[in-house]
Amino acid sequence: MAPVTVITGGGRGIGAATARRLAAAGHHVALCYRRDEAAATAVLTDLRAAGAQALAVRADTTDPDQVHALFDAAAQLGPLTGLVNNAGVTSPIGPFTELRVDDLRRVVDVNLVGYVLCAQQAARRLTDGGAIVNVSSAAATLGSPGEYVHYAAVKAATDTLTVGLAKELAPKGIRVNAVAPGIVRTDIHADSGVPDRADSAVGRIPLGRAGEPDEIAAAIAWLLGPDASYATGTVLRVSGGL
Ligand code: NAP
Repeated sequence: MAPVTVITGGGRGIGAATARRLAAAGHHVALCYRRDEAAATAVLTDLRAAGAQALAVRADTTDPDQVHALFDAAAQLGPLTGLVNNAGVTSPIGPFTELRVDDLRRVVDVNLVGYVLCAQQAARRLTDGGAIVNVSSAAATLGSPGEYVHYAAVKAATDTLTVGLAKELAPKGIRVNAVAPGIVRTDIHADSGVPDRADSAVGRIPLGRAGEPDEIAAAIAWLLGPDASYATGTVLRVSGGL
């Protein structure tokens, strides 16, 4: 039977690349998006062209009822085997003293509360074992001074969530790991007010270039799959040396 994987924020960026990679590897995929229906529909077309069963659900991961509905929809594809907790946001890059409380709350809500709600649904439904991959960030250990320290702090919480859940869910045969990307070429930088960040930040990346979404998707796919059968509670850094 094909693996069935839920990917949050699968319409664009790292989530979309992960959806395409998993479909090519034989997964059935349920993805969610928040606003950009056209992008999610385009991904869906690619997944089906690759032979996967796939569906896209508009669901805000910060809303428990919408998260529940997402996982109910995914059940149409078969018994759940995996979750990629990926839907995340930043906020305008700038000094800590300028951080607005609404932006702080949004970052905590999407990047932490949303991850917890989705992991909880997955943990309840992965009755025959499975795998969860949380998309963290290299920011968790770098701290992102002058950019978004609050975002970095929340990504550090993702790492702790990964370690704790890995231990709690191991007896149920559920592995929980994280991937920590560095600077990857996606639209997230435009949302933080610096659309050219993937190029302008190159000077601080040891490998001398930004990452591409599929290079992160490769690590996510490995952690989800049977080749990573003895990996749990780990944070895999994929950051070009950052
Ligand atoms: P992106 O290109 O901005 O895509 C974000 C995706 O998440 C979109 O599909 C968006 O949906 C969805 N989304 C956002 N908030 C949502 C919510 N509340 N409910 C449901 N879906 C929501 O972002 P990305 O760069 O691929 O980032 C993916 C993950 O990687 C995030 O967790 C991010 O923190 C992490 N990360 C990224 C980088 C980087 O440099 N890109 C580096 C380190 C870590 P819509 O399309 O509908 O808006």
